[in-house]
Amino acid sequence: MLRRNGQSRAPAPTRSLGHVAVLGGSVAGLLTAHALAGHAERVTVLERDHYPDTPVARGGVPQSPHTHVLLTSGIRALDELLPELSPSLRREGAPSLSVPADLGVWQAGQWVSRQHHSEPVVTASRPLLEHLIRRCVLQRHPRIDVRTSARVTGLLGDSEHVAGVAFRERGSERGEQRELDADLVVDATGRTSRTPEWLDALGVTVPQEEVLATGRAYATCSFRTDSSEPLDRVSGFYLVPDATQPLGAIMLPAEGDRMMVTLSGPRANPPPTDPDGFVEFARALPHPEPHRWLRQAEPLTRPVGYRHTANRRRRYDRASGLPSGFLVVGDALCAFNPVYGQGISVAAMNAVALSRQLAASGNRLTTRRAQRAVLASARGAWDVATGADSPMPGAEGNALRDGPADRVLDRYLERVRERVPGDPVVCRAFRDVLFLLAPPSSLLTSRRVLRRALFRPTTPTPDELPTRD
Ligand SMILES: Cc1cc2nc3c(=O)[nH]c(=O)nc-3n(C[C@H](O)[C@H](O)[C@H](O)COP(=O)(O)OP(=O)(O)OC[C@H]3O[C@@H](n4cnc5c(N)ncnc54)[C@H](O)[C@@H]3O)c2cc1C
Repeated sequence: MLRRNGQSRAPAPTRSLGHVAVLGGSVAGLLTAHALAGHAERVTVLERDHYPDTPVARGGVPQSPHTHVLLTSGIRALDELLPELSPSLRREGAPSLSVPADLGVWQAGQWVSRQHHSEPVVTASRPLLEHLIRRCVLQRHPRIDVRTSARVTGLLGDSEHVAGVAFRERGSERGEQRELDADLVVDATGRTSRTPEWLDALGVTVPQEEVLATGRAYATCSFRTDSSEPLDRVSGFYLVPDATQPLGAIMLPAEGDRMMVTLSGPRANPPPTDPDGFVEFARALPHPEPHRWLRQAEPLTRPVGYRHTANRRRRYDRASGLPSGFLVVGDALCAFNPVYGQGISVAAMNAVALSRQLAASGNRLTTRRAQRAVLASARGAWDVATGADSPMPGAEGNALRDGPADRVLDRYLERVRERVPGDPVVCRAFRDVLFLLAPPSSLLTSRRVLRRALFRPTTPTPDELPTRD
């Protein structure tokens, strides 16, 4: 089992994590179960929902109906974990797009030139992505025991060591609580994780939580593409909000002849969730193209809203007094403003980090070291999201970066963003950071980017949607 740093108990062999209990059977939970399965005697996943047989939204994942993009970094991480997933996504019709070649990207008041290609991103619906990840993981590890309709209510053990979980099964007698012993417990219950309360109940000092909220509100609606006019020249749109232009839109094709459309606005101007209001909201976007398409498109769903968009990171890596036998992954550890499309990619990177730590450290791996490695795999995404959100109007929270040095950095990054539309070198470097392929610091260490951002004027791009060549 994984021990707390510095404990005197003799470390067990790597293939002997014993019984692992994973709390939450969504993307992060399933990928973690996969990463640990080869090192454990058995793995049990406890999920409060009942899994649907087909790729449809489920109640435990309220973000299911919203537009999701799988970034290039996430595709790479998933290819490393589950190479059979990408072919399954293709077979099910998940679109794959090069950005900005296939998308109309509006940033810093201009269309981004579409003349250069990137490795693709995948724009499957979230239910399809989760459904296929679940299928791949459970086919590979038929011995993973998935217990659905099981809601975890607390941790067993004491402030030194977590020894299992308490849970309730839906349909069991009211009040009846069951217990499951485990050598390692992994919390993957998402953004609403109750680990802070559960640790408090064990007498553990709850680690610090870093928060940065802009109050950005979302609404998503799907439209038919088979009966709507095709988009002119592009497969979708991404209109990036910034400090001076607060409205955002992401329109991406998904499997099943549909276009998923997410509109976003600041706290005081959320996109409406009535069908007419939703389309009307798009009229105020900084370019008329998305609204023009939406006006004639046939909706497949009603718009649904979402407001829990704060960046939130819980510093379980720093807490020296955490009990052994306990890890936190996915959104439960680090959740991001969804506008940057990072969460699933980061969940996959968490699982890769855990796999690599297990492979490299073997029986020297401690819970704390594992937790640090998992959190480190989310650091780039955290820096991107909080760096971009800090200058947004209304941003608040203890992770706000607003010191004098931050303001200088913001001004520099603004110059970088302004050059993205017309400068292919800056565009590529910026996109690599956004897609989590390069650290944010690369925008400062690349001499080519520095020179262009500091000394070259911006290159205007045409008002109309640019062509590919
Ligand atoms: C509007 C929106 C848009 C987004 N867009 C993108 C995007 O474009 N790209 C991207 O990569 N990410 C995106 N994300 C983020 C992405 O959805 C999450 O990062 C990802 O789902 C995280 O997965 P997770 O497994 O950590 O948590 P979740 O998917 O939230 O899963 C948590 C699981 O735990 C279960 N659970 C919760 N509590 C308990 C309990 N007590 N007992 C048992 N089970 C429990 C839930 O039922 C659920 O199955 C978006 C998020 C939102 C809100």
